[in-house]
Amino acid sequence: MRFFIIFVILLLNYSPWNNVWADVEIQPDNTTIDSFTLNYLYDETRQYTINEISRKDFPLQINNRFTQGYLEGNSWFKLTVHNNSQNQHFVLYLSEPFWDQFDLYYKKEQQWISHKNGLSVPLNQRDYNDTHPAFALTIAPGDSQTYYLMGSSVSAHIGKLLLYTEKEYLRPTRITLNDIYLFYQGILLIIIILNSFLFIAVRERIYAWYIAYVLAFSAFISVLSGSYLILGLPPWSDALHTIGTIVVMFMTLFSGAFLELRERLPKMQRVFNAFALVFALFAVLIALKVPYSSLVFNIVSSIFFTLLLFVSIKVWLQGYLKAQYYLIALIIYMPSMALMTLTFNGLIENTELSRYSFIAGSFTEIIFFSLLLVNRFYDLQQEKIKIQAQLIEEQEKTEHYLEQEIQKRSRELIKTNQRLSIQTSELEKAKKELTLQAITDPLTQLYNRRYFADIASKAFFNAVRYEQALAIIMLDIDEFKKINDVYGHHTGDQVIARCARLLTEFSRKSDTVARYGGEEFIILVPQTSLSEVQSLAQRIKQEVNNICIVLKDDSVVTFSISIGIAQIEKNQDHNIQDIIQRADQALYKAKQQGRDQIVTIV
Ligand code: GH3
Ligand code: MG
Ligand code: MG
Repeated sequence: MRFFIIFVILLLNYSPWNNVWADVEIQPDNTTIDSFTLNYLYDETRQYTINEISRKDFPLQINNRFTQGYLEGNSWFKLTVHNNSQNQHFVLYLSEPFWDQFDLYYKKEQQWISHKNGLSVPLNQRDYNDTHPAFALTIAPGDSQTYYLMGSSVSAHIGKLLLYTEKEYLRPTRITLNDIYLFYQGILLIIIILNSFLFIAVRERIYAWYIAYVLAFSAFISVLSGSYLILGLPPWSDALHTIGTIVVMFMTLFSGAFLELRERLPKMQRVFNAFALVFALFAVLIALKVPYSSLVFNIVSSIFFTLLLFVSIKVWLQGYLKAQYYLIALIIYMPSMALMTLTFNGLIENTELSRYSFIAGSFTEIIFFSLLLVNRFYDLQQEKIKIQAQLIEEQEKTEHYLEQEIQKRSRELIKTNQRLSIQTSELEKAKKELTLQAITDPLTQLYNRRYFADIASKAFFNAVRYEQALAIIMLDIDEFKKINDVYGHHTGDQVIARCARLLTEFSRKSDTVARYGGEEFIILVPQTSLSEVQSLAQRIKQEVNNICIVLKDDSVVTFSISIGIAQIEKNQDHNIQDIIQRADQALYKAKQQGRDQIVTIV
C-alpha cells in the first residue's frame, strides 16, 4: 500500500502538466487559460500590507494548480497578465470556495484597489454571485497588469486559478465543477429517498446509518462546492473538516452494521463504536478550532481505515460472502480519499486526478453500498417469504392435526354417548323392573298387598271427594291346605297362579287386582254399582268352578272360592281399611256358611 502511494506521488510530481510559464499571455483566441505559473510568498506573521508585499521578492514559482498544505499565515500570489487579445474583460477564478479570505489587489493610477472575496464576504458583495472567488479584471488590449492575491484559510491552502474571458465565464452552457457536484447531489438525494423507503419497510439500523452517511456526504459535497452558501446558510470555515469527520463517523457505524460485527465479531463492534464516538468528539474539537485536532483526526482515521480493511477481510474469510463486495467498494474508495487528503496536506501535487478522483471513488462506493443494501433488502424479503410459507405450512399442519383430533374426539364422544344412553335405558329398564318387582308378586304377577294399599287408599279419597262408588272384593281359595297336602306344594302354586290369571282376565282396566295373602286375593272396583260388583263376583266364582288343572299323572284338580264384598259407606268409613275389614268379614261369613259362595256386607 505504502509503495503504491509513493509511486503515485512520484508519478504525479513528474507529470507532463507541470510546464512552466513565467506570466500569463492572453492570445486572441483564448477563452480559458488553465495552465500558468504564479509567484508565491508565504507571510507567517500575517502583518504585511499590500504596499510592503509589492516591494518584496516572491521567492517561489508555483503552478496555477497549487497546494501549500495547512498554513496558519497568509499566502500571497503574484500574477502578471499580458493581454494580446481584443477582449478587455476577464475573470480570475479560484476552484476552492472554502478560503476564509481571498482578496485581489492591483494598482491603478498609483492607488491600490482591492476586491475582497472568500467566506468572509457575502455572495452579493462579491464581483460575481459565485460561491467560488471570482474577480472581474479589466485589461485594455495590448496592456499588462500585475495582480496580487492574498489568501487565508483554516483548511488547506489549496486551489486552482483559472483565467476566463468574461464572455466565456458567463456562458450559460459552460459546464462547471459545481454542475458535476449538483448532478452528484441529485443522485445522493435519490439514494437517500430509496434507502428511506427501505428503512421504513424493514426498520433495520443499517439503513439508518447509511442514510445518515449519505446525508453527511451530501453536506460534505455542499461545503466542497460552496453550494450551501447559495441556500443562505452562514459561511463556516471549519465546515469541510467538521463534516468530513462526521462522514467518517457514520461510515464507521454503517460499516459495523454491514459487516454484522455485532453477531460476527462482537468485540470489534465495541471497538467500532468507540471509534465512532472518538470521531464525533473530533468533529466537536475541529469545530472549536482546537489546535492539531485535524492532524490527530487524520492519524486516527488512517488507523481506523487500516483496521476496517483487516476486519472486512476477516469477516469475508469467516464466510460472509457479501463482505467481498464491501471490500471492493472500500478498495475503490480509500485510495481516492487518501489521494485527496494527501493533496490537501500538500504532500502530493494538486492535479485533476489527485484532487478529484474522490468524486469517482466515493460515487462508486456509494452506488456499490446502495446496491448491496438493495440486495440485502431483497434477501430479507426472500427470507421473510420463506418464513411466512413455513409458518403457513406449519399452521396448516396444526389445523389438520386439530381437525383430526376433533373428529376423533367427536367419534369417541358419540360412542360414549351411545354407550351412556344404552346404559341409561338399561338402567331405566332395571329401575322399572325393580319398581315392578317391588310392587308385584312374583308367583302371580299381581300387585302385592303393600302396593294395593297405596292405590286403594288414593282411590278411597278420590271416591269420597267426588262421591263415587267404591267396592272391595275379597276372595279366598277354599280348603287350599288340602290341595297342598294331596297334590303337593307345586300344584298349590299352579292353582294360585291359574286363579290369579283368571282374576286379571275378568277385571277391568280401572280395577286393581292384588294377591292379598297366600291363597287370598283382593279386587278394588271403583265407580261401579253394587249389583255390577256382585255380578262380576258371580262370574268369577263360576269361572273358578269351571277350572280343571290336569296334572302329569292325568289327575284333575278343581277348586272353589269364597267371596266377600263390601262397599264404601259415605258417612261411616274413614279409610280404605274400613271397607277391607267389612269385605273380610263378608268372606269369613261365606266360609262359615259353607264356602263356594258370595257374601255382601252393606
Ligand atoms: P279355608 O280357607 O277353606 O278355611 O281352608 P284352607 O285350607 O284354605 O285354610 P287356610 O286359609 O288356613 O290355609 C291356607 C293354606 O295355604 C296355608 C298354607 O300352607 C297354604 N299356602 C299359603 N300360601 C301358599 C303358597 O304360596 N303356595 C302353596 N302351595 N301353599 C300356600
Ligand atoms: Mg286362607
Ligand atoms: Mg282358604
